[in-house]
Amino acid sequence: MEANYQKTKEILESYGIRATSQRLEMAHLLLSAHKHFTAEEIFHLINSHFPHASRATIFNNLKLFSEKGVIGTLELKNGVTLYDSNMERHHHAVEEGTGRIIDVYLDEETESKVHALMKEELEKSTGKSWKNTRIMITLKGES
Ligand SMILES: [Zn+2]
Repeated sequence: MEANYQKTKEILESYGIRATSQRLEMAHLLLSAHKHFTAEEIFHLINSHFPHASRATIFNNLKLFSEKGVIGTLELKNGVTLYDSNMERHHHAVEEGTGRIIDVYLDEETESKVHALMKEELEKSTGKSWKNTRIMITLKGES
């Protein structure tokens, strides 16, 4: 097994996913792309490399990867879901008009401050304690 595939295998297993050869091929292609894809774009990417992979398998694996957190999801207006294969902790800026999406990195200290503040406000307004909270910040504007 090639070195990169070994790393991808370890990533899948660390998320509790059994690394079948199709999952491995698919995850490897996605994770080396560092992009925001629609489901349809992912289907075409995988299909162009592995024409033997069925549409159902590709979509099932995609669902599994996003449910387990191997890849992130990004909900855009008009209900489109994008899959994000950049595994580094980051946020997004969306350029209105063009729809271009740019990854934005915040230092850990800033991020945890914002996270703590939001969680505190949320718990105050709902009167409940929240767990497993995550923040995903989207900045929108024009350039
Ligand atoms: Zn991203």
